[in-house]
Amino acid sequence: MMTRDEIRELAAFQADESKGACALSFYFQPDPPQDCSHRRETIVAKEVVKQALKSAEAKGKNGTLHADLERVLDLATNLRGHARGRAVFACGAQHFWKEFDLPPRLGATHIYLQPQFQLKPLAALLGAQPTLCVAMVDRQRARFFDLRLDDLRERQGIVHMLSRSGANYGYKGYDGGHAERRVAEEALQHFKAVSERLRTDREKGVWERLIVGCQESNWPEFETQLHPYVRERVIGRFSADVASVANEEIRDRANSVLNQWIVERGRTKASEALNLAKANGRGVTGLRRVLQALETGEVQSICLNENYSAHAVACANCGHLDAHMIPACVACGKPTRELSDVSDAIIPIAIRRDIELFYLKDHPELDRAGNIAALLRFRSDQNRTGQIAVAS
Ligand SMILES: [Zn+2]
Repeated sequence: MMTRDEIRELAAFQADESKGACALSFYFQPDPPQDCSHRRETIVAKEVVKQALKSAEAKGKNGTLHADLERVLDLATNLRGHARGRAVFACGAQHFWKEFDLPPRLGATHIYLQPQFQLKPLAALLGAQPTLCVAMVDRQRARFFDLRLDDLRERQGIVHMLSRSGANYGYKGYDGGHAERRVAEEALQHFKAVSERLRTDREKGVWERLIVGCQESNWPEFETQLHPYVRERVIGRFSADVASVANEEIRDRANSVLNQWIVERGRTKASEALNLAKANGRGVTGLRRVLQALETGEVQSICLNENYSAHAVACANCGHLDAHMIPACVACGKPTRELSDVSDAIIPIAIRRDIELFYLKDHPELDRAGNIAALLRFRSDQNRTGQIAVAS
């Protein structure tokens, strides 16, 4: 499982270019599962790495990069039939090598040689992923899972076996009604215990959002037992038989609930940012304003068109980003360097500061607003006492 700290470490990594170091990022996209031959995927992967080796040699790049590429080529050769995506981040000159399994939704197999690791495919996958708990609940069991990037981990569950109905209570149904009431009471106590566990885990920060898997008939009773601030964090649920459901099914069902939620949340955040930008409130649109807001630390969420890319410049000295292609930094006067895609600079900042990133498909309003918008926590340029000052 890829942790937030590992992602932050990748985002903070900087290759020392003065010593010829280079950050290598390799993404492997497997063939779709229905294509069982798995031949094309490794051919593509090897070809991609060989091309990078050639161009590195042509540029006279140093020995550690060559060694990194050879190692990636070895790895690519062995990826045949690998059902999941894979990413490698390496910089031999700085003794850095990390490999991760990822969901097989990386778009394409690709290699990048840059001063920083290329995190765009990763950001598209996890930019807006909350720490997620999946609770599988029936009248006597509860199983709890952490789900992160297709990786499902089970935590300690709860079991309250119900009393056997009927048989244990009296004869010939004399106490049948009593037994039923008793079982119902036990189930209620179980739901209360599950709800309490979810509440304390939430308070400890174990999870941020919740998905519930249960039988439809159990949901209304269980839901009424949920603490209000647990209930408001439920992003969806699916119907399942807790006693028999397989872990792969839990993962797939929960992932589809999650993906749906992320798409809807992205659309909501984009509309909010666009509307608030018009009202001169907590929203900005267009690259120039988004970069300004990033520098003043105001940004909460960023919404980008799925294929967003734009030129910009970055100051190598103070890190200032500018949408205008100016040769000297407006903040410190030192020379700037050109970025072929400003996303390469925005994504690491967003990851380091826990800013939600939403990639949106087909959003004409966002397109018209410059393909990029941000929702702000506050606005530094608005004086809160302004109205009072005007009134007096
Ligand atoms: Zn500067």
